[in-house]
Parts: sequence; structure tokens; C-alpha cells
Amino acid sequence: MSLRTQLQDHPGLLVWSWKITEKLLLAQRGLFERLGLERSSRLVHWLEKPLKKILFDCRMCGQCILHYTGMTCPMTCPKQLRNGPCGGVCMDGTCEVIPDNDCVWVKAVERSGKTPWESELNRLNPPVDWRLEDLASWVTFATGRDQTTVGGKEGAVYAEGDRQ
Ligand code: SF4
Ligand code: SF4
Repeated sequence: MSLRTQLQDHPGLLVWSWKITEKLLLAQRGLFERLGLERSSRLVHWLEKPLKKILFDCRMCGQCILHYTGMTCPMTCPKQLRNGPCGGVCMDGTCEVIPDNDCVWVKAVERSGKTPWESELNRLNPPVDWRLEDLASWVTFATGRDQTTVGGKEGAVYAEGDRQ
């Protein structure tokens, strides 16, 4: 079993790290807003990108919902489903598209019970806004941009984030 899988299956350390990171990021909100999304992203990319690649196989969608899905990246699902599994999960919990892998959503359900955010698994997540791809999700999170969907003059607020 890889170190990544072990960490995700026993997510205590990841939960603790996220809580610290969340506080640090929210404290930088003013700075990020002054600099704007692009420049702020360049400022933190050097750390976020490799770190989250190692820990979560992050695909840099720019709108992270990891802590709502048991610290399991939904973008690693071959269909990139963010609101639950497809209908093709195999009986043994593996993925219909990549049979050697566990279904991302089976892992999300298993792991979310080990985090303080289990109830968030039922949260309706907004569709991916691809304009945010490759931007730092740390910045979109801190500024609240990750909670805004496309459409509407201001961009419709789609889902409330509980900033626990
Ligand atoms: S930023 Fe997106 S791709 Fe990266 S870990 Fe979070 S949900 Fe997955
Ligand atoms: S079986 Fe799971 S991981 Fe595979 S495509 Fe369906 S939802 Fe995604």
C-alpha cells in the first residue's frame, strides 16, 4: 500500500493539516484579493501543486472539495464525478473504467467517516468551473471564488461552504 493511500485511509494527520492550512489561508484573504487570482496563484503554486500532487494525486481543478469527500480527490475519478459515484461501481468496490483501482467514491465514503466532515459528503457540489483550472485552490478557497458558479452577472452563489 502506498504512503498516499495509508495517509488517506487514516486521515487524522491530513485533517489536522487542513485545519491549520485553512486558518492560514483565510488570514491571507485581503492580500489575495488585492493581488487577484492569477498573481496570488503564482505566489502559492510552488507549494500547493507538488504537495497536493504527492498527497492526493491532485489534478489542479482550482476548486478543492477534498475535505468534503474524505480527503479523496474526486477529480481522480475517470469521469471526474463530484457528486457521488456512477452506476458502474463493481461489486468488489473497484472502478469500472480502471479495474485495478478502487472506486474513488467508495473510498470517499469509507474515509469521510474518519473526518469531522462526514455529513458534507451529502453536500451538493457546484459543477466544475474550468476557468479556475490550474489556479491555486488555496486562493480560490480563501477568496470564496470556489463557491461561485458560472452564469449571472456576478456569478450565482451555488453552494455554501462551511468554513469550519
Ligand atoms: S484541487 Fe481539485 S483536483 Fe486538486 S485535490 Fe482538490 S479537488 Fe482534487
Ligand atoms: S466506478 Fe467510481 S471511480 Fe470509476 S468512474 Fe465510476 S464513480 Fe468514478
